Amino acid sequence: MIAIASPIIGEEEIAAVNQVLESGVLAQGPKVAELEEKFADYCGTKYAVAVNSGTAALHAALYAAGVGPGDEVITVPFSFIATINPIIMLGATPVLVDIDSKTFNMDTTLLSKAITSKTKAILPVHLYGQPANMDEINELARKHNLKIIEDACQAIGAEYRGKKAGSLGDMGCFSLYATKNIMSGEGGVITTNDGRLVEKMKQFRQHGMSGPYQYEGIGFNYRMTDLQAAIAVEQLKKVDDLNQKRVQNAKAVTKGISGLSGISVPFEAEDRTHVYHQYTIKVAKDRDNFVQRLREKQVGAGVYYPLSLHQIPHIAKYGYKLGDFKYSEGAAGSVVSLPIHPKLTEEDIKTIVEAVKDAAA
Ligand SMILES: *Cc1c(COP(=O)(O)O)cnc(C)c1O
Repeated sequence: MIAIASPIIGEEEIAAVNQVLESGVLAQGPKVAELEEKFADYCGTKYAVAVNSGTAALHAALYAAGVGPGDEVITVPFSFIATINPIIMLGATPVLVDIDSKTFNMDTTLLSKAITSKTKAILPVHLYGQPANMDEINELARKHNLKIIEDACQAIGAEYRGKKAGSLGDMGCFSLYATKNIMSGEGGVITTNDGRLVEKMKQFRQHGMSGPYQYEGIGFNYRMTDLQAAIAVEQLKKVDDLNQKRVQNAKAVTKGISGLSGISVPFEAEDRTHVYHQYTIKVAKDRDNFVQRLREKQVGAGVYYPLSLHQIPHIAKYGYKLGDFKYSEGAAGSVVSLPIHPKLTEEDIKTIVEAVKDAAA
């Protein structure tokens, strides 16, 4: 089976982990600090804060933004559930707006209607690796004094009008989960230019402590280990190379399958780059059967995501029902992600193209 994701671990990662093991500092230490410095540099921000997952990154960023009971956070129903759960964990209300059917990202024409006096933050998702309409989001956020938190978990290295994901709002949240474009098994990072937010997030990942047994507020153990940071530092050196391979693979697959009836290939907006965390097509009918046929041909296709998040009971209870988000629901019923990771061979790409042609026939 051609896998949908395949982490790339070289000798560099193995040597770096061994060095940490030999150093004796296994929890948060100098490697985490090194990762933070290099990650911020890469994204073009002043600071980065490392945590132990993308979910923790979103939780810490929302906390630092001051999100709490009574507040509203505007986001989208078409994403991974970790985009919304931290909003609810902080006691705030997720306010959902539909996506644009071409890009799968927030339809920013719906945004101003969703803003109320309770809105605290906007949480756009750069889904599949393509940035959302950040100029439109920034303009409204400035006007209404709202924080912007990017869910950039799928978009490391993607650019919007020449600036990198993670530098396009107040805070950018990344995941280093094993299947992401770069990874450390598990891990997360938040980027920002605001030193006060850094302080809050560093306290939040360390039980709310500002010093030994001095507590400034609530917090958890969201620390990253030096073992993970050592892997991530090596991965970060390779990120542009790995992303470029994804883009090349995407071009080759698009060339092979465009024009097939009932299949829409990914749309790329002109003023931004897509780093293809997922290469996602839309299939006009019989999606589940289509996926089955790809798998029979050894193509490990995936469905991200089979449900619009507003259909899930603990989110629906904020007043949502089936039919509320036409394009999110439509995407959930029609998307198929094809393998696109950097380890694919030319042969694999041929297999994928032929399997799609076959299944579409
Ligand atoms: C992966 C992902 C997350 C969560 O990251 P974890 O590291 O798995 O906790 C959040 N949002 C999006 C869009 C993701 O793809």
